[in-house]
Amino acid sequence: MVERMSIRTQLAIWYSVVFALALMLFGVGVYGIVSFTLIQQVDATLAESAAAIASRSAGGFQGGERVIRLPELDLFRAVVVEAISVDGQILASSIVNLNHHLDPAAVELMRQKPVAEQQPMFTTANHPKAPPIRVYTYPLVGQKSGQLFGYLQVATSLEQVHRAMNGLLATLVSAGIVGLILSSVAGAALAQRAMRPVERITDAAMEIYHTQDLGRRVDVRTNDEVGRLGLAFNEMLDRLGNLFRSQQRFVADVSHEMRTPLTVIRGNVDLLRAMGCADKESLDAIAGETDRMTRLVSDLLLLSQADAGMLPMHCEPINVAPLVADVARSGAIMADGRVSVESSVAGELIVHGDADRIKQVLLNLVENAVKHTPTGGIVRIVGANTDAGMVLLSVSDTGVGIPPEDLPHVFERFYRVDKSRSRAYGGAGLGLAIAKSIIEAHGGDIEVQSVVGVGTTFNVWLPAYQPNLV
Ligand code: ADP
Repeated sequence: MVERMSIRTQLAIWYSVVFALALMLFGVGVYGIVSFTLIQQVDATLAESAAAIASRSAGGFQGGERVIRLPELDLFRAVVVEAISVDGQILASSIVNLNHHLDPAAVELMRQKPVAEQQPMFTTANHPKAPPIRVYTYPLVGQKSGQLFGYLQVATSLEQVHRAMNGLLATLVSAGIVGLILSSVAGAALAQRAMRPVERITDAAMEIYHTQDLGRRVDVRTNDEVGRLGLAFNEMLDRLGNLFRSQQRFVADVSHEMRTPLTVIRGNVDLLRAMGCADKESLDAIAGETDRMTRLVSDLLLLSQADAGMLPMHCEPINVAPLVADVARSGAIMADGRVSVESSVAGELIVHGDADRIKQVLLNLVENAVKHTPTGGIVRIVGANTDAGMVLLSVSDTGVGIPPEDLPHVFERFYRVDKSRSRAYGGAGLGLAIAKSIIEAHGGDIEVQSVVGVGTTFNVWLPAYQPNLV
């Protein structure tokens, strides 16, 4: 499975990225509009001043030279003014001076055009040692003669505008950073909030998985997409529950119904045997197969009861030592001297459970151990207390062991490690599945460890009897 970021993280990141982009766009927009407006204002002032100066100026020839007569330039205090002759000489300038040509490049540019196309223009001039200035270059044309007699450059410093723009930029950047941090936090919180209903469904699904209780339902609170997902999930559970119950009922009914005919067959076989009117080998085969089927049917019935959580159990405090000794004795009878069966119980151990069922489990484990241990081997049953309020009962052997690839499956129904070997012993592969169901019905656990050629150990944990709790 490809490792992916959680949807919640993706949502939070998306939210922050979109918000950051919106913030950036807003910032660029505000900055652009404000700077445009400020420059427009500056330009308007310059154009106004230029128009006023131009209207009071006059040009003409004096001794063959073009001259410009300007009004009192220092009346226009806010701006710096320069009058430039057609050939680029400065003819006059205001007292408020900048110690450099305002924008010779603009004049040069204008001079290159034919007189008819010379339109006033705005430029921004940067001087290395002075703040940038906004310059308005204006061709001075005689009103009557229509002759170009010079240029007027009107300028003002952009220092104020730049200072205001820098202040605005600093404000926008810091507000942007704060906004970004706040939006990340808000994004994470929003994503968490948006995903909470989905998480509730996931939790409910996991709870159903762990408790194996198909009767539970997801709590549907809203009618949105997530609510509908919850509804769909609940409907699926309804269907699954119905299917599962009908399957359980079917297995239980079949097992139950088959018990009677099997008993009748078995009775008739015994009758035929007593009457001596049938071939003994055939009768033995029929009797053997009938016994096997009877065992299978009762095992299936027990499993279906356990699945439905209706395994009949009579729980009581059980002293482990006599129970283990009893199982060891039966094990020794099964082993018939071929392997030795030992048992030991540390101290007085009391578990809370159904004695018959626990004995059934231990007998099954011991029977398996005896079956799979070669002559001369040892089968050991050990009982001990654990810290977690549980009693550990382990059945170990020095037998053939279980291959690692089979180990995870041995508790599955009808699973046999070596099909041919197990069939010879007559096992259907239900013994360990039943053992697991019984132990889990007690609130305990069972696990297996095995090394091929060395031996196998089954560990069973059962709740210790605690007088004040029961
Ligand atoms: P069965 O009724 O066929 O014995 P079980 O569920 O009891 O089925 O066991 C499942 C499989 O686990 C068996 O096929 C058997 O080969 C293997 N097994 C169980 N116990 C042992 C053991 N102590 N040593 C080796 N194999 C074992």
